[in-house]
Amino acid sequence: MVKTIKIPLMLIVFLAILFVSIFSIAVSIIEHENLYRESVKQDLDGLSENLSNDIVTILATANNEIELTTILLRLDRYENVKFAYVFSIDGELLSRYFGKQAEAEDPLSNPVLSQILKQHQLGMSIDNNQLVALKMIGDKRLPQGYLFIVNDLKKPLESSKHLMFSSIFPLTVFIVIIALLSLYFLLNRLLSPLSRLSKFANKVSLTHNYSLKPDIEGKYEIAQLSTDIEQMMGTIDTQMERNKDYTQQLIAQQKAMEKLANFDSLTGLPNRQFFVEMLRVELIRAKRENSDVALLFFDLDGFKDVNDSFGHEVGDKLLIKIATLVKNYVRDGDVISRLGGDEFLVLLHNNPDEFTLVNIADRIATGLSKTIKIEEWQVNVSASIGIAKASQSNFNVSEFISNADLAMYRSKLEGKGRYTIFVEEMMEGNKRKLLIAKNIDDALLHNSFCLFYQPKVNDLGVVNGYEALIRWYDNELGFISPVEFIPIAEKSGKINAVTSWVLKRLCTEFSELQRKHIEPVKVSVNLSAIDIKNEHLFDEIQALFIDFNIDPSLIEFEVTESAYLENLKEANLFFSRLQELGSTIALDDFGTGYSSLAYLTQIKLNTLKIDKQFVDNLGESDRSNLITVAIIDMANRLQLQTCAEGVETRLQADFLISQGCQQLQGYLFGRPLSIKDLTEKMP
Ligand code: C2E
Ligand code: CA
Ligand code: CA
Repeated sequence: MVKTIKIPLMLIVFLAILFVSIFSIAVSIIEHENLYRESVKQDLDGLSENLSNDIVTILATANNEIELTTILLRLDRYENVKFAYVFSIDGELLSRYFGKQAEAEDPLSNPVLSQILKQHQLGMSIDNNQLVALKMIGDKRLPQGYLFIVNDLKKPLESSKHLMFSSIFPLTVFIVIIALLSLYFLLNRLLSPLSRLSKFANKVSLTHNYSLKPDIEGKYEIAQLSTDIEQMMGTIDTQMERNKDYTQQLIAQQKAMEKLANFDSLTGLPNRQFFVEMLRVELIRAKRENSDVALLFFDLDGFKDVNDSFGHEVGDKLLIKIATLVKNYVRDGDVISRLGGDEFLVLLHNNPDEFTLVNIADRIATGLSKTIKIEEWQVNVSASIGIAKASQSNFNVSEFISNADLAMYRSKLEGKGRYTIFVEEMMEGNKRKLLIAKNIDDALLHNSFCLFYQPKVNDLGVVNGYEALIRWYDNELGFISPVEFIPIAEKSGKINAVTSWVLKRLCTEFSELQRKHIEPVKVSVNLSAIDIKNEHLFDEIQALFIDFNIDPSLIEFEVTESAYLENLKEANLFFSRLQELGSTIALDDFGTGYSSLAYLTQIKLNTLKIDKQFVDNLGESDRSNLITVAIIDMANRLQLQTCAEGVETRLQADFLISQGCQQLQGYLFGRPLSIKDLTEKMP
């Protein structure tokens, strides 16, 4: 229940009225008392004057006691007269009168005039709640005697007060009640707009409708309050509208972000992250329901050729086309996702039997091996498919995907454009991968990697640089080649940590390496595709250069052309920042990847590293000779340095030098060695 201000207000007013009433009554009574006394006094004064005049004649003629008594008996009419005495001038008591009010033990039953004259003044006086009249009888010059009358004041005053009180009390009560009632109605009238405002506020908070108006008329401050609330509601309403717009914008943005985060921007298919999340839920459900789900992993064969021959745009269109085609080959409810590049996953729900699996895989394999028309081009690809069931991986998401991946690889190995169903035996190879991935963590933790340096020489055979190459001897698995563990580190998300380790180690050993040379030598370090996408790497490198006081121009970063081109935008940005610092960039394994060379002008480069496969066949294969010559020639035109990798024979070296290759690297000049071995070997 709502507490109302009416009660305290009424109480205050009631108390105020009560106080005023009591005060007024008290004042009236006091005033009444005074008036009453005055009037009784005047009456008694008159009466005693008359009596004494009458007594004069009696005393003058004959001292007749009876007549005196008769005169005094006139006092009977005045019920408040207690007693009266008539004294002769000598003090003799001539007559006495006792009224109805006389008290038995009246101390004046034997009155003595001299005492009376001592105690009372002539005329009227009030003594002890009694009105006393002491009159001289006769003329002042010839006094005959004294008249002494005592009139009770207390009782008549009490009864008169009582009378008066009983007459004004009901009136007062009546006035108080009327006042309170009027106040009640007044308060009701004044406060009802407030109660309505309160109801209005309740309604607003219940309905959340801020466009409501407090249609409340009131007076004085309440009218102002009502207007203020109306204005406030207006402000809230506008703000709410703004908030609504803002929220809608936010929701739209969030949706867009979700789409970006969860869907592949090219094909619109769920991306890896979203798919894996969904798969996780699906696996929990399937396990709980004792059911199974299957995963179909496919990778396009020859996609790289399409990109190389027709350009990335056609490649992108092909991926979009494939996404739409595959939708027609699967059942309703099966989910297709693009993992990245030309890899796709299809979740086949509801425990599909072998027949269904084979049927879907066959449709995809056959469907995608047909010629696809993209713009004016006839494009030919095929899909290598791997199929796995969740139960085979005990419903573990990453194992499940990796099983399908393994089966897909088997399809690739066996001739592409086909499908393979996963079997346990395929796991054997995978086990080593898992172990390596696991042991990378330990190696990082226990610092069991090592950095080797392979010299690079100029055309005169003088060492003018090194390539830093990581080495790993694992207690359990023995020596593991970076060719094997770097891709695993990349796939298992550990490459950034490995690269950080390499960079830090290189910086630590850098000055020791330089100490062996009169002229400063440049050291190159390998980066992987994933490193390029690492937003923090540039800052990390810069901090290391500062911390170890390293001249950035003595560091070269090697990156393969595929790593560079697959992340063209990020790579250009990242490498141009490194170049601004003063470092140089080398394109590793050049010639093995993209057959189109147009990109060379678009990327930030300083050196081309001619791949070992061309160097190997120099002098033996015309094609290799031709390509090598062409690469060196083109590099010169583009003002790029060249470095030939894997030079093992003098013949190869001479050929390269004769063609203008500036730098050579290979076992002919030195194998990769640890800093310790290197310094021991050096003069
Ligand atoms: P890469 O960058 O092309 O490195 C050259 C590889 O060729 C090295 O193998 C080197 O030992 C080897 N090599 C050099 N000269 C000769 C030669 O005359 N004959 C033969 N047969 N081989 C020669 P390595 O050290 O096993 O490295 C293999 C690959 O692993 C590297 O290829 C590189 O891609 C990667 N790698 C090595 N260290 C790192 C690293 O620190 N970070 C990253 N991301 N990748 C690394
Ligand atoms: Ca390299
Ligand atoms: Ca290389």
